[in-house]
Amino acid sequence: MLQTVDVGELSIESYRSVVPDQIMDPLLDTARELRGARVLHLSATPYGGGVSELLRSAVPLYNDLGITTTWKIIGGNPPFFTVTKKLHNALQGESRKPITREDQDVYERTAEMNAGELRSDPRFGGYDFVFVHDPQPSAVLSFTGKGGASWIWRCHIDTSAPSADAWDYLKTFISGYDATVFTMSQFVPPDLAPERVDIIPPAIDPLSPKNMSLDDRTAYAVLNWIGIEPGRPLITQVSRFDPWKDPLGVIEAFRIARRRVPGLQLALVGSMALDDPEAWEVYRAISAESEHDPAIHVFTNLTGVGNVEVNAFQRVSTVMVQKSIREGFGLVVSEALWKGTPVVAGATGGIPLQMADDAGGLLVDSIAGCADAIGTLLTDPAGAAALGMSGKERVRRHFLLPRLLLDELTLVKGIGR
Ligand code: UDP
Repeated sequence: MLQTVDVGELSIESYRSVVPDQIMDPLLDTARELRGARVLHLSATPYGGGVSELLRSAVPLYNDLGITTTWKIIGGNPPFFTVTKKLHNALQGESRKPITREDQDVYERTAEMNAGELRSDPRFGGYDFVFVHDPQPSAVLSFTGKGGASWIWRCHIDTSAPSADAWDYLKTFISGYDATVFTMSQFVPPDLAPERVDIIPPAIDPLSPKNMSLDDRTAYAVLNWIGIEPGRPLITQVSRFDPWKDPLGVIEAFRIARRRVPGLQLALVGSMALDDPEAWEVYRAISAESEHDPAIHVFTNLTGVGNVEVNAFQRVSTVMVQKSIREGFGLVVSEALWKGTPVVAGATGGIPLQMADDAGGLLVDSIAGCADAIGTLLTDPAGAAALGMSGKERVRRHFLLPRLLLDELTLVKGIGR
Protein backbone atom coordinates (compact mmCIF):
# COMPACT_ATOMS: atom_id res chain seq x y z
CA MET A 1 0.00 0.00 0.00
CA LEU A 2 1.19 3.51 -0.80
CA GLN A 3 2.03 5.20 2.50
CA THR A 4 2.89 8.69 3.64
CA VAL A 5 5.99 8.81 5.87
CA ASP A 6 5.71 10.87 9.05
CA VAL A 7 8.77 13.02 9.61
CA GLY A 8 9.68 15.42 12.41
CA GLU A 9 10.20 19.17 12.33
CA LEU A 10 13.53 20.87 11.64
CA SER A 11 14.63 24.47 11.48
CA ILE A 12 16.89 25.51 8.61
CA GLU A 13 18.26 28.38 10.71
CA SER A 14 19.97 25.96 13.09
CA TYR A 15 22.23 24.86 10.20
CA ARG A 16 23.91 28.30 10.16
CA SER A 17 26.15 27.09 12.98
CA VAL A 18 27.79 24.44 10.77
CA VAL A 19 27.15 25.27 7.12
CA PRO A 20 29.03 28.03 5.25
CA ASP A 21 27.06 31.25 4.51
CA GLN A 22 27.96 30.83 0.82
CA ILE A 23 25.49 27.93 0.84
CA MET A 24 22.93 29.14 3.41
CA ASP A 25 22.29 32.57 1.86
CA PRO A 26 21.52 31.45 -1.72
CA LEU A 27 19.45 28.57 -0.30
CA LEU A 28 17.17 30.94 1.60
CA ASP A 29 16.91 33.26 -1.42
CA THR A 30 16.01 30.46 -3.80
CA ALA A 31 13.49 28.98 -1.36
CA ARG A 32 11.82 32.38 -1.02
CA GLU A 33 11.25 32.45 -4.80
CA LEU A 34 9.68 28.99 -4.67
CA ARG A 35 7.63 29.53 -1.50
CA GLY A 36 4.31 27.68 -1.67
CA ALA A 37 5.46 25.13 -4.25
CA ARG A 38 4.10 21.62 -3.57
CA VAL A 39 6.50 18.73 -3.91
CA LEU A 40 6.09 14.96 -3.62
CA HIS A 41 8.98 12.54 -3.08
CA LEU A 42 8.31 8.91 -3.97
CA SER A 43 10.67 6.15 -2.83
CA ALA A 44 10.74 2.48 -1.85
CA THR A 45 11.64 2.25 1.84
CA PRO A 46 11.25 4.48 4.91
CA TYR A 47 14.46 3.21 6.58
CA GLY A 48 17.71 1.38 5.87
CA GLY A 49 19.77 2.92 3.10
CA GLY A 50 20.88 6.26 1.75
CA VAL A 51 17.64 7.48 0.13
CA SER A 52 15.59 7.18 3.31
CA GLU A 53 18.42 8.76 5.28
CA LEU A 54 18.35 11.77 2.95
CA LEU A 55 14.59 12.22 2.80
CA ARG A 56 14.10 11.92 6.55
CA SER A 57 15.97 15.21 6.97
CA ALA A 58 15.34 16.88 3.62
CA VAL A 59 11.52 16.69 3.81
CA PRO A 60 11.15 18.59 7.13
CA LEU A 61 13.75 21.13 6.02
CA TYR A 62 11.89 21.80 2.76
CA ASN A 63 8.71 22.33 4.77
CA ASP A 64 10.54 24.76 7.03
CA LEU A 65 11.74 26.59 3.91
CA GLY A 66 8.10 27.08 2.82
CA ILE A 67 8.04 24.33 0.18
CA THR A 68 5.13 22.04 1.02
CA THR A 69 6.75 18.63 0.79
CA THR A 70 5.30 15.14 1.21
CA TRP A 71 7.15 11.81 1.18
CA LYS A 72 5.40 8.63 0.12
CA ILE A 73 6.59 5.05 0.03
CA ILE A 74 5.33 2.70 -2.66
CA GLY A 75 3.83 -0.61 -1.63
CA GLY A 76 5.13 -3.91 -2.96
CA ASN A 77 5.18 -7.61 -2.12
CA PRO A 78 8.34 -9.78 -1.79
CA PRO A 79 8.34 -10.84 -5.49
CA PHE A 80 8.28 -7.15 -6.46
CA PHE A 81 11.29 -6.35 -4.27
CA THR A 82 13.12 -9.41 -5.62
CA VAL A 83 12.61 -8.03 -9.13
CA THR A 84 13.65 -4.49 -8.17
CA LYS A 85 16.80 -5.75 -6.44
CA LYS A 86 17.60 -7.71 -9.61
CA LEU A 87 17.01 -4.55 -11.63
CA HIS A 88 19.19 -2.55 -9.22
CA ASN A 89 22.00 -5.11 -9.56
CA ALA A 90 21.67 -5.21 -13.36
CA LEU A 91 21.80 -1.41 -13.55
CA GLN A 92 25.01 -1.52 -11.50
CA GLY A 93 26.48 -3.84 -14.15
CA GLU A 94 25.58 -7.36 -13.04
CA SER A 95 24.53 -9.23 -16.18
CA ARG A 96 24.06 -12.81 -14.98
CA LYS A 97 20.36 -12.50 -14.17
CA PRO A 98 18.36 -10.96 -17.04
CA ILE A 99 15.04 -9.26 -16.40
CA THR A 100 12.44 -11.69 -17.74
CA ARG A 101 8.98 -11.03 -19.15
CA GLU A 102 7.52 -12.29 -15.83
CA ASP A 103 9.74 -9.86 -13.92
CA GLN A 104 8.45 -7.03 -16.07
CA ASP A 105 4.86 -8.08 -15.35
CA VAL A 106 5.48 -8.07 -11.59
CA TYR A 107 7.20 -4.69 -11.81
CA GLU A 108 4.51 -3.06 -13.93
CA ARG A 109 1.55 -4.52 -12.04
CA THR A 110 2.93 -3.12 -8.78
CA ALA A 111 3.53 0.25 -10.42
CA GLU A 112 -0.04 0.26 -11.69
CA MET A 113 -1.40 -0.57 -8.23
CA ASN A 114 0.61 2.25 -6.63
CA ALA A 115 -0.40 4.61 -9.41
CA GLY A 116 -4.07 3.86 -8.75
CA GLU A 117 -3.62 4.76 -5.08
CA LEU A 118 -1.66 7.90 -5.90
CA ARG A 119 -4.33 9.10 -8.32
CA SER A 120 -7.04 8.65 -5.72
CA ASP A 121 -5.10 10.82 -3.24
CA PRO A 122 -6.98 14.15 -3.15
CA ARG A 123 -3.64 16.01 -3.33
CA PHE A 124 -2.75 14.39 -6.67
CA GLY A 125 -3.20 17.04 -9.33
CA GLY A 126 -1.98 19.70 -6.88
CA TYR A 127 1.73 18.88 -6.90
CA ASP A 128 4.13 21.11 -8.81
CA PHE A 129 7.09 18.70 -8.75
CA VAL A 130 7.39 14.97 -8.18
CA PHE A 131 10.79 13.46 -7.37
CA VAL A 132 10.95 9.71 -7.96
CA HIS A 133 13.92 8.01 -6.34
CA ASP A 134 15.69 5.06 -7.96
CA PRO A 135 14.25 2.31 -10.17
CA GLN A 136 11.68 0.83 -7.77
CA PRO A 137 8.93 3.49 -8.21
CA SER A 138 9.97 4.77 -11.64
CA ALA A 139 7.16 3.14 -13.64
CA VAL A 140 4.42 4.76 -11.53
CA LEU A 141 4.41 7.84 -13.80
CA SER A 142 3.44 5.70 -16.82
CA PHE A 143 0.19 4.82 -15.05
CA THR A 144 -0.69 8.08 -13.28
CA GLY A 145 0.15 10.59 -15.98
CA LYS A 146 1.79 13.79 -14.76
CA GLY A 147 -1.23 15.29 -13.02
CA GLY A 148 0.01 18.78 -13.89
CA ALA A 149 3.40 18.30 -12.17
CA SER A 150 6.94 18.19 -13.53
CA TRP A 151 8.44 14.75 -12.86
CA ILE A 152 12.09 14.28 -11.97
CA TRP A 153 13.81 10.89 -11.82
CA ARG A 154 16.54 10.90 -9.17
CA CYS A 155 19.01 8.05 -9.69
CA HIS A 156 21.14 7.24 -6.63
CA ILE A 157 22.99 4.22 -8.02
CA ASP A 158 26.01 3.78 -10.25
CA THR A 159 24.54 3.41 -13.75
CA SER A 160 27.81 4.06 -15.58
CA ALA A 161 27.95 0.54 -17.06
CA PRO A 162 24.45 -0.94 -16.82
CA SER A 163 23.45 -4.25 -18.31
CA ALA A 164 22.05 -3.16 -21.68
CA ASP A 165 18.77 -5.09 -21.36
CA ALA A 166 17.99 -3.67 -17.93
CA TRP A 167 18.71 -0.09 -18.96
CA ASP A 168 16.74 -0.44 -22.24
CA TYR A 169 13.78 -1.62 -20.20
CA LEU A 170 14.00 1.08 -17.53
CA LYS A 171 14.57 3.77 -20.16
CA THR A 172 11.08 3.19 -21.55
CA PHE A 173 9.78 4.63 -18.24
CA ILE A 174 12.49 7.26 -17.68
CA SER A 175 11.88 8.80 -21.10
CA GLY A 176 8.55 10.13 -19.82
CA TYR A 177 10.23 12.33 -17.18
CA ASP A 178 10.89 16.04 -17.47
CA ALA A 179 14.36 15.80 -15.92
CA THR A 180 16.79 13.29 -14.49
CA VAL A 181 19.38 13.70 -11.74
CA PHE A 182 22.53 11.64 -11.26
CA THR A 183 25.24 11.81 -8.60
CA MET A 184 28.12 12.07 -11.09
CA SER A 185 28.35 12.76 -14.81
CA GLN A 186 30.06 9.36 -15.25
CA PHE A 187 26.80 7.69 -14.14
CA VAL A 188 24.68 9.10 -16.98
CA PRO A 189 23.95 6.28 -19.41
CA PRO A 190 25.23 7.26 -22.89
CA ASP A 191 21.86 7.36 -24.64
CA LEU A 192 20.11 9.81 -22.32
CA ALA A 193 19.57 13.26 -23.84
CA PRO A 194 22.02 15.60 -22.04
CA GLU A 195 19.65 18.57 -21.77
CA ARG A 196 17.52 16.55 -19.39
CA VAL A 197 20.32 15.70 -16.99
CA ASP A 198 21.46 17.39 -13.78
CA ILE A 199 24.39 16.29 -11.61
CA ILE A 200 23.73 16.59 -7.88
CA PRO A 201 25.72 14.59 -5.31
CA PRO A 202 23.91 13.58 -2.10
CA ALA A 203 24.77 14.99 1.33
CA ILE A 204 24.47 14.23 5.04
CA ASP A 205 22.52 15.97 7.78
CA PRO A 206 25.14 17.25 10.27
CA LEU A 207 22.50 17.73 12.99
CA SER A 208 20.69 14.39 12.79
CA PRO A 209 21.06 11.86 15.65
CA LYS A 210 23.50 9.96 13.43
CA ASN A 211 25.78 12.93 12.84
CA MET A 212 25.24 15.34 15.74
CA SER A 213 28.14 15.89 18.10
CA LEU A 214 28.52 13.23 20.75
CA ASP A 215 31.19 13.52 23.41
CA ASP A 216 33.82 10.76 23.54
CA ARG A 217 32.72 9.50 26.94
CA THR A 218 29.15 8.94 25.80
CA ALA A 219 30.30 7.40 22.50
CA TYR A 220 32.61 4.94 24.29
CA ALA A 221 29.88 4.09 26.81
CA VAL A 222 27.37 3.38 24.01
CA LEU A 223 29.79 0.97 22.31
CA ASN A 224 31.03 -0.62 25.53
CA TRP A 225 27.42 -1.43 26.36
CA ILE A 226 27.05 -3.49 23.17
CA GLY A 227 30.31 -5.38 23.62
CA ILE A 228 33.09 -3.33 22.01
CA GLU A 229 36.22 -3.11 24.15
CA PRO A 230 37.12 0.57 24.37
CA GLY A 231 40.87 0.09 24.96
CA ARG A 232 41.51 -1.88 21.75
CA PRO A 233 41.88 -0.53 18.19
CA LEU A 234 38.67 -0.86 16.18
CA ILE A 235 37.80 -0.81 12.50
CA THR A 236 34.15 -0.69 11.39
CA GLN A 237 32.10 -0.92 8.21
CA VAL A 238 28.52 0.41 8.36
CA SER A 239 26.48 -0.78 5.37
CA ARG A 240 23.41 -2.57 4.22
CA PHE A 241 24.28 -6.28 4.01
CA ASP A 242 24.80 -6.24 0.26
CA PRO A 243 27.34 -8.06 -1.93
CA TRP A 244 28.32 -4.72 -3.56
CA LYS A 245 29.56 -3.54 -0.13
CA ASP A 246 31.84 -6.62 0.06
CA PRO A 247 31.55 -7.42 3.79
CA LEU A 248 33.34 -10.77 3.29
CA GLY A 249 36.23 -8.87 1.69
CA VAL A 250 36.30 -6.63 4.77
CA ILE A 251 36.64 -9.69 7.02
CA GLU A 252 39.54 -10.96 4.90
CA ALA A 253 41.28 -7.58 4.93
CA PHE A 254 40.75 -7.37 8.70
CA ARG A 255 42.42 -10.75 9.20
CA ILE A 256 45.47 -9.65 7.23
CA ALA A 257 45.67 -6.25 9.01
CA ARG A 258 45.38 -7.93 12.41
CA ARG A 259 48.80 -9.54 11.88
CA ARG A 260 50.28 -6.04 11.94
CA VAL A 261 48.05 -4.71 14.72
CA PRO A 262 47.40 -7.35 17.38
CA GLY A 263 44.27 -6.77 19.45
CA LEU A 264 42.43 -5.23 16.48
CA GLN A 265 38.62 -5.56 16.55
CA LEU A 266 36.23 -5.46 13.57
CA ALA A 267 32.59 -4.34 13.71
CA LEU A 268 30.23 -4.94 10.80
CA VAL A 269 27.10 -2.88 11.29
CA GLY A 270 24.37 -3.59 8.78
CA SER A 271 20.76 -2.75 8.22
CA MET A 272 17.94 -4.75 6.75
CA ALA A 273 16.02 -2.46 4.41
CA LEU A 274 12.43 -3.24 3.48
CA ASP A 275 13.29 -3.37 -0.23
CA ASP A 276 16.40 -5.56 0.08
CA PRO A 277 15.68 -9.31 -0.01
CA GLU A 278 19.38 -10.21 -0.41
CA ALA A 279 20.31 -8.90 3.03
CA TRP A 280 19.52 -12.08 4.95
CA GLU A 281 21.61 -14.22 2.62
CA VAL A 282 24.59 -11.89 3.08
CA TYR A 283 24.00 -11.74 6.84
CA ARG A 284 24.11 -15.54 7.06
CA ALA A 285 27.39 -15.66 5.11
CA ILE A 286 28.95 -13.04 7.40
CA SER A 287 27.76 -14.83 10.54
CA ALA A 288 29.18 -18.16 9.34
CA GLU A 289 32.51 -16.49 8.56
CA SER A 290 32.77 -14.68 11.89
CA GLU A 291 31.12 -16.89 14.51
CA HIS A 292 34.36 -18.46 15.77
CA ASP A 293 36.29 -15.20 15.81
CA PRO A 294 35.54 -13.20 18.98
CA ALA A 295 37.28 -10.12 17.57
CA ILE A 296 34.57 -9.76 14.88
CA HIS A 297 31.28 -8.19 16.01
CA VAL A 298 28.20 -8.20 13.78
CA PHE A 299 25.31 -5.83 14.54
CA THR A 300 22.03 -4.98 12.82
CA ASN A 301 19.22 -2.49 13.18
CA LEU A 302 17.08 -5.47 14.22
CA THR A 303 19.18 -5.94 17.37
CA GLY A 304 18.82 -2.31 18.38
CA VAL A 305 21.88 -0.77 16.73
CA GLY A 306 20.44 2.46 15.40
CA ASN A 307 21.49 6.00 14.59
CA VAL A 308 23.19 6.85 17.87
CA GLU A 309 25.19 3.62 17.87
CA VAL A 310 26.24 4.25 14.25
CA ASN A 311 27.25 7.77 15.29
CA ALA A 312 29.38 6.30 18.12
CA PHE A 313 31.00 3.73 15.81
CA GLN A 314 31.89 6.38 13.25
CA ARG A 315 33.35 8.57 16.00
CA VAL A 316 35.23 6.00 18.10
CA SER A 317 36.57 3.64 15.42
CA THR A 318 40.26 4.11 14.73
CA VAL A 319 39.51 3.70 11.03
CA MET A 320 36.19 3.38 9.17
CA VAL A 321 36.14 1.01 6.20
CA GLN A 322 33.86 1.15 3.15
CA LYS A 323 35.19 -1.52 0.86
CA SER A 324 32.51 -1.18 -1.81
CA ILE A 325 32.87 -2.76 -5.23
CA ARG A 326 30.15 -0.50 -6.72
CA GLU A 327 28.73 2.50 -4.90
CA GLY A 328 26.29 5.21 -5.96
CA PHE A 329 27.65 7.65 -3.40
CA GLY A 330 28.15 6.01 -0.01
CA LEU A 331 26.76 8.46 2.56
CA VAL A 332 28.61 6.46 5.21
CA VAL A 333 31.90 7.88 3.92
CA SER A 334 30.83 11.50 4.49
CA GLU A 335 29.26 10.51 7.81
CA ALA A 336 32.60 9.12 9.04
CA LEU A 337 34.64 12.01 7.64
CA TRP A 338 32.33 14.53 9.27
CA LYS A 339 33.40 13.02 12.61
CA GLY A 340 37.06 13.46 11.71
CA THR A 341 37.59 9.72 11.42
CA PRO A 342 39.89 8.54 8.58
CA VAL A 343 38.39 6.19 6.02
CA VAL A 344 39.74 3.32 3.93
CA ALA A 345 37.36 2.90 1.01
CA GLY A 346 36.91 1.30 -2.39
CA ALA A 347 37.89 3.60 -5.25
CA THR A 348 34.50 3.25 -6.89
CA GLY A 349 31.42 5.31 -7.81
CA GLY A 350 30.85 8.35 -5.64
CA ILE A 351 33.49 7.50 -3.03
CA PRO A 352 36.50 9.17 -4.74
CA LEU A 353 34.40 12.34 -5.11
CA GLN A 354 34.11 12.52 -1.32
CA MET A 355 37.81 11.83 -0.79
CA ALA A 356 39.19 13.89 -3.69
CA ASP A 357 42.50 15.75 -3.36
CA ASP A 358 43.82 13.05 -1.02
CA ALA A 359 41.38 14.17 1.70
CA GLY A 360 39.92 11.89 4.34
CA GLY A 361 41.86 8.65 3.97
CA LEU A 362 43.04 6.05 1.51
CA LEU A 363 41.31 4.63 -1.58
CA VAL A 364 41.81 0.95 -2.35
CA ASP A 365 40.83 -1.54 -5.04
CA SER A 366 41.69 -4.95 -3.59
CA ILE A 367 41.55 -6.92 -0.35
CA ALA A 368 45.34 -6.80 0.01
CA GLY A 369 45.31 -3.05 -0.68
CA CYS A 370 42.56 -2.58 1.88
CA ALA A 371 44.51 -4.53 4.54
CA ASP A 372 47.62 -2.55 3.77
CA ALA A 373 45.84 0.81 4.02
CA ILE A 374 44.20 -0.16 7.32
CA GLY A 375 47.63 -1.16 8.67
CA THR A 376 49.16 2.11 7.46
CA LEU A 377 46.56 4.28 9.19
CA LEU A 378 46.56 2.21 12.39
CA THR A 379 50.32 2.50 12.75
CA ASP A 380 50.48 6.24 11.94
CA PRO A 381 48.03 8.00 14.28
CA ALA A 382 49.27 11.51 13.43
CA GLY A 383 48.97 10.94 9.67
CA ALA A 384 45.56 9.31 10.18
CA ALA A 385 44.31 12.25 12.28
CA ALA A 386 45.46 14.76 9.63
CA LEU A 387 43.59 12.81 6.95
CA GLY A 388 40.48 12.73 9.16
CA MET A 389 40.59 16.51 9.56
CA SER A 390 41.04 17.17 5.82
CA GLY A 391 38.04 14.90 5.19
CA LYS A 392 35.90 16.80 7.66
CA GLU A 393 36.65 20.11 5.95
CA ARG A 394 35.82 18.62 2.55
CA VAL A 395 32.45 17.41 3.83
CA ARG A 396 31.73 20.82 5.41
CA ARG A 397 32.23 22.54 2.07
CA HIS A 398 30.55 20.06 -0.25
CA PHE A 399 28.46 17.36 1.38
CA LEU A 400 26.17 18.89 4.01
CA LEU A 401 22.42 18.82 3.41
CA PRO A 402 21.76 22.55 2.74
CA ARG A 403 24.03 22.28 -0.34
CA LEU A 404 21.84 19.45 -1.66
CA LEU A 405 18.66 21.43 -0.98
CA LEU A 406 20.12 24.42 -2.82
CA ASP A 407 21.00 22.27 -5.85
CA GLU A 408 17.54 20.68 -5.95
CA LEU A 409 15.71 23.98 -5.59
CA THR A 410 17.89 25.48 -8.32
CA LEU A 411 16.88 22.57 -10.55
CA VAL A 412 13.14 22.98 -9.92
CA LYS A 413 13.40 26.74 -10.34
CA GLY A 414 14.99 26.05 -13.74
CA ILE A 415 12.12 23.76 -14.73
CA GLY A 416 9.57 26.31 -13.53
CA ARG A 417 6.08 25.88 -12.13
N1 UDP B 1 22.91 2.67 7.92
C1 UDP B 1 22.45 2.59 9.22
N2 UDP B 1 22.59 1.42 9.89
C2 UDP B 1 23.18 0.35 9.35
C3 UDP B 1 23.67 0.44 8.02
C4 UDP B 1 23.50 1.61 7.32
O1 UDP B 1 21.92 3.55 9.76
O2 UDP B 1 23.28 -0.66 10.01
C5 UDP B 1 22.77 3.96 7.22
C6 UDP B 1 24.12 4.63 7.00
O3 UDP B 1 24.52 5.31 8.17
C7 UDP B 1 23.79 5.55 5.83
C8 UDP B 1 22.77 4.75 5.03
O4 UDP B 1 22.24 3.77 5.92
O5 UDP B 1 23.19 6.74 6.29
C9 UDP B 1 23.44 4.03 3.87
O6 UDP B 1 23.63 4.95 2.84
P1 UDP B 1 24.76 4.74 1.75
O7 UDP B 1 24.63 5.87 0.79
O8 UDP B 1 26.09 4.60 2.40
O9 UDP B 1 24.44 3.35 1.06
P2 UDP B 1 23.11 2.70 0.41
O10 UDP B 1 22.52 1.83 1.47
O11 UDP B 1 22.20 3.81 0.02
O12 UDP B 1 23.62 1.89 -0.73
